[in-house]
Order: sequence, then structure tokens, then C-alpha cells
Amino acid sequence: MKKKVVLAVGAHPDDIDFGASGTIAKWAEEGANCYYLICTDGSRGSTDPKMTHKKLSRIRKKEQAEAGKVLGLKKIFFLNHTDTQLDSDFTLKKDIAKIIKMIKPSIVVTMDPTFYYSEKFNFINHTDHRSASVATMDACYPLARDRLTFPEHEEEGLSPHHVEEIWFIGFDKTNLLVDITDTFAKKIEAIAMHKSQFDDMKHVIKRVEERARYFGIVKSCKYAENFVRVELF
Ligand SMILES: [Zn+2]
Repeated sequence: MKKKVVLAVGAHPDDIDFGASGTIAKWAEEGANCYYLICTDGSRGSTDPKMTHKKLSRIRKKEQAEAGKVLGLKKIFFLNHTDTQLDSDFTLKKDIAKIIKMIKPSIVVTMDPTFYYSEKFNFINHTDHRSASVATMDACYPLARDRLTFPEHEEEGLSPHHVEEIWFIGFDKTNLLVDITDTFAKKIEAIAMHKSQFDDMKHVIKRVEERARYFGIVKSCKYAENFVRVELF
């Protein structure tokens, strides 16, 4: 992974830390330049009656920045769309395509664009997660690849870019497991930075550990993360 560029795109601060930070930290340790792109301002997820949108957004960006330091991220980009109102429209796709052209990642990580809900786990995927992942997939292919899609990018000196692989963070789909045993402690430390989101962090960490251990058994290691990898030729 030395010198490889990786871009991980999530809707909210904490999304990528839950889904892929063990793998991201591993790649960073191996010499990759890893970036996050967070599409929303994270301004809605609070039950505190005294919390405001502005204050929460500030807190969550700070929490993500602290987690980024733990993981060895090169930089975190924020697009600042309003939390819960993210649309996978052409504006969002264009913004993501622009970042792709700027940093030229060979691997883009995002959430699973096909995941709406799980009957098995009684779980509905957040609307922002769906929007961020659909927009990211479309930005990788075909939007960032083609010269004529955004002539304004060319005027800004940005050339098209071919993303080699998209890694979708698996919920109930998997075609690839990554051994994160050596970076699991960093993953937990990164997740623990998102204090504003959880009243019972111990319980959250217990669930993260159970999931990583489950995939670890399948992979024959202690802890693993699961993905669906798609190679783009
Ligand atoms: Zn989220």
C-alpha cells in the first residue's frame, strides 16, 4: 500500500470509523495516503435538549478530526450538506468527483448503496448513508473518469481520474474480509472519539468487538472487517 491513495466517503462523522477504520489504519501504517470525505455537517444526531445544530456540527467535526489523528489520516474533507437531508443529486456527485480528481485515489471506500434495510437484524439504513454511497459510486464511475462530464473541472486544472477499486462497507453482504487484528485498538480508539453520539460507549464498543470477532472467525484471525470489493476496469 506504500504511496497508494485511498479516499473513504461517509455521510456523517463516525460512519467510516465504524465500517472501515481498522482497514484504513492498516493501510496508513503501510504507507498509504488515506483521506476521509464526510458529506454532511453531522448536525442532527443529538438528544440533548440544549444542543444546537451549529454547536453539534462543530463538536462532531472535532471528534472526527481526533479520530483521524488516531488513524493517521492525511486530511478530512467536509462537504457540509445538512444532516438528514443528503440527496444523491448531481451537485453531490460533482463535489465528490472533484475531490476524486484532486487526490486521485486508487481505492475508494464507501457504504453499501444497495442496502436499504435488514429484516434479519431489524435495521433500517439511514437515508444519508444511502445517498452518500450512491453518489460516491456514480462519482467514481462514470463521472470522475470522463473528461467531458465536468468541463469546469478541466478549467480548474483537474484532469479525469480512473478509480481502480470501490470497497463497499458490507452490512449483510461480503466478498472480502480484511484482518484488522493489529489495528483493532486504533479502530476502538477512533470510535471512542465520537462521544457526542453515544450515552453508553461501552455497549457500542462491545457490539463493534462482537462484529469484528464474528468476521475474524470466518477469516481465521482475531478481528476482521467485511467489504464488497468491485474492481473497475
Ligand atoms: Zn451515519
